[in-house]
Amino acid sequence: MEFSQKILDLAAQAETDLKEQFAEIDRIAFANTARVLDSFRKHRISEAMLYGSTGYGYGDMGRDALDEVYADVFGAEAAFVRHNIVSGTQAIAIALYGILRPGDVMLSITGRPYDTLSEVIGDKTKNGDGSLADFGVIYDDVPLKNGAPDYEAIEKKIAEHGEKLKLVYIQRSKGYETRPTFSSKEIGEMIAFAKARTGAYVAVDNCYGEFCDTEEPTAYGADLIMGSLIKNPGGGIAETGGYIAGTKRAVELASYRLTTVGIGTEAGATVGQLRGMFKGFFFAPHVVAQALKTAVFAAYMYEKLGFEVFPSWKEARHDIVQTVKCGAPEKLCAFCRGIQAASPIDSFVTPEPWAMPGYEDEVIMAAGAFTQGSSIELSADGPLRAPFTAYFQGGLTYESGKYAIMMSAEEMLKN
Ligand SMILES: *Cc1c(COP(=O)(O)O)cnc(C)c1O
Repeated sequence: MEFSQKILDLAAQAETDLKEQFAEIDRIAFANTARVLDSFRKHRISEAMLYGSTGYGYGDMGRDALDEVYADVFGAEAAFVRHNIVSGTQAIAIALYGILRPGDVMLSITGRPYDTLSEVIGDKTKNGDGSLADFGVIYDDVPLKNGAPDYEAIEKKIAEHGEKLKLVYIQRSKGYETRPTFSSKEIGEMIAFAKARTGAYVAVDNCYGEFCDTEEPTAYGADLIMGSLIKNPGGGIAETGGYIAGTKRAVELASYRLTTVGIGTEAGATVGQLRGMFKGFFFAPHVVAQALKTAVFAAYMYEKLGFEVFPSWKEARHDIVQTVKCGAPEKLCAFCRGIQAASPIDSFVTPEPWAMPGYEDEVIMAAGAFTQGSSIELSADGPLRAPFTAYFQGGLTYESGKYAIMMSAEEMLKN
């Protein structure tokens, strides 16, 4: 690939101007790496622990140790990490079903949760599929007000639901919305507010947030955090899986939903997946830093090229997601083509918009990952509707992320 002088100059300028941002990202990665290594040492992680078990998986020392490492590093009392949790959505569903009982209220205080949870929550018409609604769980939410929690309204809802309120729900990352992502500290304030008014558990969808701050929401009192291993904490190495961490009783209840009451985390074969999960967690703080640098670099490049980006390169970041308002369908497609062409896998494929089930508008996606659907690896997508916003995240190495952003910028300028 030959880059134009314009893109080469802009990239060079970016790296001069982003020194401070990069230094802050490195500082966070170092603090998180130190915590990971301290925990590996504390639990005397050994090579023998990396092989895993078969059958029931009783006495799997590696599995138990990895659970403790996750708990330590996330500032939680307990945790479990399993390769057979299929996605972030399932990790979240395990937590919800583990805690909620018929007649209980779940109150989301950061607006409507991520799209894939709609069917888990269900609506008021019981269709027999076994959604939370089907089991008689009542869902309620408080929309954000100017991108922040509406504390007045939350206070009213907590009072209104009283003793029935069993779970307060918070989503850290913006997902497909245009609102700021919350820092662990800000989530801590929400948790403190809720805990001062209700005895309910507080659960946080932590997807895309892990290792972006030096602490996770569990260090600020969250009863449960949930996430996917093909995002941040898998470090681009874990091949599949999910985790849940939090307070002892909440994690225990979730574990009964993972397997069954009476078994919890005491069984479950790890069949050769432990090495990748340990290695991925070791790499994760660094890989998240690579993804953050890629996002900041992209924000800078596109802002200078005249596009509206969010967050801006100057802002503090609490997840790895970056958006660019492309402004026109052909620009959004060009952006995705550039990302795809710079991917290590499937670089020869041309992404085209398609009518994905469950979405109102056509969607275009770019992904060329070693692990299918992995979004800690560089990936981009966006719905074909105004203002034609590209959402993208990931980048296993800053160098490959930078290359992909330069390639996409080049494509955009041509179109
Ligand atoms: C990715 C994500 C999820 C879960 O998505 P999966 O594709 O099921 O892993 C949930 N919430 C947010 C905010 C996410 O970014």
